[in-house]
Amino acid sequence: MWDAVIVGGGPVGQFLALAASAAGRHTLLLEAKPAGAGFTDDRTLALSWSSWLMLQRVGATTDLESAATPIRTIHVSQRGGFGRSELTAGDAGVPALGYVIGYGDVQRALARRVATRDVRYDTPVERIDPADDGVVVHAAGDSVPARCAIVAEGGGPLVEALGFSQREKDYGVHAVVARVRTDREHAHVAFERFAEVGPLALLPRGEGFALVWTLAPDDARAVLALDDRTFLSQLQRAFGWRAGRFIAVAERGAFPLTLRTTEPRVRGPIALVGNAAQTLHPVAGQGLNLGLRDAWLAAKSLPSLERFDRARRLDRTATVHFTDALADVFAADWPGLAWARGVGLATLDVLPAARRMFARTLTIGHLQDPARARRF
Ligand SMILES: Cc1cc2nc3c(=O)[nH]c(=O)nc-3n(C[C@H](O)[C@H](O)[C@H](O)COP(=O)(O)OP(=O)(O)OC[C@H]3O[C@@H](n4cnc5c(N)ncnc54)[C@H](O)[C@@H]3O)c2cc1C
Repeated sequence: MWDAVIVGGGPVGQFLALAASAAGRHTLLLEAKPAGAGFTDDRTLALSWSSWLMLQRVGATTDLESAATPIRTIHVSQRGGFGRSELTAGDAGVPALGYVIGYGDVQRALARRVATRDVRYDTPVERIDPADDGVVVHAAGDSVPARCAIVAEGGGPLVEALGFSQREKDYGVHAVVARVRTDREHAHVAFERFAEVGPLALLPRGEGFALVWTLAPDDARAVLALDDRTFLSQLQRAFGWRAGRFIAVAERGAFPLTLRTTEPRVRGPIALVGNAAQTLHPVAGQGLNLGLRDAWLAAKSLPSLERFDRARRLDRTATVHFTDALADVFAADWPGLAWARGVGLATLDVLPAARRMFARTLTIGHLQDPARARRF
């Protein structure tokens, strides 16, 4: 009998399969789409330093190195207000604050390492029934018995069908994403600028930047419809000149920003990980990183999901609240708040200890110091 069936072969499900195999557990990964379907998805992911170390432990970073762009500095500021802060890799005591990479690159690097006997593609899971000694997973006309099921299906209809209850908070804004170029080299600097309704982030990726621009839904639709020149001039006005002159834009898209959490996320022999358990605002780039930390601990705890749940509760709660608070603080427009944000950013810049703590939170995750992260 399998120690676990993993439902969904996104980055979290595939990483879990590899980490479980490294821990000597026998898992079967069931993925709805055909093999290689995710390789062409060019959405931008920001991997934290601790995620990079975990991917290294399963041998995936050798394939990722040429495609990943390291972030060495994060520049945080707010539009129309004073206060700015710069966080460096040195602040966090790590070689890079994170790495920017395409979803498809991560999927390809992980898929190359998952043993073919441990994965079935084109196999959408329809149902999971509890059984005396675990679960029976029903997919593509087959019934697979296992000690437990770990659902990493990205937050689709299966989660609700399994009886998990989801809470959703709509931030009322959309993220416009695109690849942009400026007339300057990025020098491995990421920018996070807090504009009128939320953050505008530029992440160094390849020769240019990946853009995440938070806008009211109507404004997002309007900027998507602009010709390239007008889009770039509006972006220039919103962001300013810190990264140089915007000269090119490609691959524009938009999606609504929500916070979705599932409580509890373990019910008997079934657990949720990754986006199936929580979808976060991208303000701190924590969504996938939290999912990978979940997967690492789930792999080590198998087949005891209770142990996994206990071990992950604090980091999960802290990451969800940290991200939600950051999204709210930088979106709100209360009197005096711009001033308070300015004081916060200025304080971060002059207090090395505060800056180090913030940098570590972004790179390592909550409640973990770099030394512990290195032991992964
Ligand atoms: C535009 C965009 C930009 C983003 N940018 C960032 C970022 O910069 N940094 C960051 O950390 N995160 C980012 N995210 C979030 C990030 O993409 C997710 O956190 C990550 O993809 C979650 O991985 P996952 O493996 O949990 O789910 P997914 O990547 O959604 O994978 C789920 C997999 O399960 C499969 N599946 C679904 N249903 C079934 C079923 N019934 N049976 C079997 N298989 C099934 C799907 O085919 C898919 O392969 C972004 C998201 C979007 C949409």
